[in-house]
Amino acid sequence: MKIKIYHLYPDAMNLYGDWGNILAIQKRCEWRQIQTEIIEVKVGENYNFDDADIFFLGGGQDRGQILISKDLGLKGKQIKEAIEKDTVALTICGGYQLFGKHFKTANGTEIPGISVFDAWTEASTERMIGNVLVDCRATTSNWENMHRFGLVEKMHATLVGFENHSGKTHLGNNAKPLGHIIRGYGNDGTGNFEGCQYRNAFGTYLHGSLLPKNPWFTDHIILLALRHRYGSDSELPQLDDAIEIAAHNEAKERVYTAKTVHI
Ligand code: GLN
Repeated sequence: MKIKIYHLYPDAMNLYGDWGNILAIQKRCEWRQIQTEIIEVKVGENYNFDDADIFFLGGGQDRGQILISKDLGLKGKQIKEAIEKDTVALTICGGYQLFGKHFKTANGTEIPGISVFDAWTEASTERMIGNVLVDCRATTSNWENMHRFGLVEKMHATLVGFENHSGKTHLGNNAKPLGHIIRGYGNDGTGNFEGCQYRNAFGTYLHGSLLPKNPWFTDHIILLALRHRYGSDSELPQLDDAIEIAAHNEAKERVYTAKTVHI
């Protein structure tokens, strides 16, 4: 079996090891004899996303976002069509903002997004930095495979990561968050919701990288990608996650011990 990943603009959008998310997907596939093909998407080049199983877009500063936004806009229709056909997408921070409707920078420039998510972002004077802990029990309760593999119970459906953003993301009435904040600022700094999900597309503020320390979420993404390519009866064998779970728990501990920085 094989899955094809389109890594969007890795040169302009890669903060705090976001690229490690690709490595985590690759490695967990390799351990199960699933091949991965990674295509690095660049500004100004054309691609046929018909065969995409996963899109990945990392975080980036305003400069990086401005650099890619026009090109992303040109590719937006094709990306959205793929997402309507259940292609998976994982977008982080600045990438998440551009999968929403727009990001308004501190100087008032409105960087258009591709509106996968019913969400929009405005820069604030507050910089939200720190370790984050997210509870995904309520927001992932319809992820039947998570329950089938006992993964939710095993990991208590928490996500751990690190946020650093000034943008505040507001979810529209139709938007579903990825989780509820236990510790951290989250989408809009109020500590309520974190991230967004639409079909198989996910947006989150969590850097880290996110996936190595949250193996249940990585497996969810891989399984959705396999099902996208091979059909709904695709299965994913369990791995021994002792090390990953230890890393997850260690990061969870830090959320409670390290101070959240408020600048
Ligand atoms: N420029 C955005 C913000 O600060 C995104 C930053 C990031 O991707 N870490 O809100």
